[in-house]
Amino acid sequence: MRIVKVGKLLLGPGYPVVIQTMWKEPLAPGDPEPLRVRIGKLKSLGCGLLRFAAPDLRSAEVLGELSRISPLPLVADIHFDWRIALRCLDFPIAKIRINPGNIGSRAKVEEVVRKAADRGVPIRIGVNGGSLPQDLRGSQDPAGAMIAAAEREMEILESLGFRDYLVSMKSSDMRATLDANRRFAAVHDVPLHLGVTEAGPLIPGIVKNAVALHALLSEGIGVTLRVSLSDSPESEVVAGREILASAGRGRPGVNIISCPRCGRGGFDVHSFLARWQDRLYALDRDITVAVMGCAVNGPEEARHADIGITGAGDRAVVFRGGKIVRTISVEEADTVFEEELSRL
Ligand code: SF4
Repeated sequence: MRIVKVGKLLLGPGYPVVIQTMWKEPLAPGDPEPLRVRIGKLKSLGCGLLRFAAPDLRSAEVLGELSRISPLPLVADIHFDWRIALRCLDFPIAKIRINPGNIGSRAKVEEVVRKAADRGVPIRIGVNGGSLPQDLRGSQDPAGAMIAAAEREMEILESLGFRDYLVSMKSSDMRATLDANRRFAAVHDVPLHLGVTEAGPLIPGIVKNAVALHALLSEGIGVTLRVSLSDSPESEVVAGREILASAGRGRPGVNIISCPRCGRGGFDVHSFLARWQDRLYALDRDITVAVMGCAVNGPEEARHADIGITGAGDRAVVFRGGKIVRTISVEEADTVFEEELSRL
């Protein structure tokens, strides 16, 4: 399979699979500092690539300026108007995504491709099962239709000698997504960006993406992924991390094990995790952290954890490597946990 360079990232065999997410708000002129800070947080959670919609030339300008200061490489997502892609290519963006179903004539695509080649910017051909070119819509073989849409666009890029591209074929039907990516990977050496599109709210969205992406990643398919959710980009990144780790394609990172909580628990697992989850995921460590409601599943069942906290009657205990190191009041939980975490 060929290797594609996106910003400073190398994507392809032997390189880590990169988690991508997408910014959810429109881009508007203004102080870029809050965006830069939040992008930094996405990076700390494990995001490697961030896509922005650029629906008009004004947002292309804002995105372009942001790409000069962003802690993450940025991708410009272009639909309908090739001139927006051309403008984005005046800035140090890392990648352009175009949708072959709506970008228009071959001449427009060629103009974008030539400028991308000049600027050394790769392109993602992003096929979406819900917005295929007119003649491919309603096919009895939705996976085949997505592959055909991708191949049609690939032919234009290849005819111009442009090989610096990736393909994605996403459907809201995870079976069609699986089928399309498997069939494509069997015959092409082009890197694939993975995802189930329009996957729904947090829980169903994660389930659909996990089922499809775990299978593909386990088969060695995919160089980037996005878990598309009707939820925050932070949730998309954390879900992507978990899917990658479960498929054995990502570094372990912070593994949180926690109990569901029940009537026995004297320690509020849910609120502790709400306060700590993002901080833990932002740690650049390969550790397991246990958060348990009571001693039933506390230090004993979580003894493999590097650090853990569990309820113990009306108190709480902090343990490391299966050994209790502190017995504390519930009110002291955050302070003491932080102290013990810093000792790891
Ligand atoms: S660890 Fe305790 S509180 Fe948590 S689910 Fe198990 S029995 Fe319930």
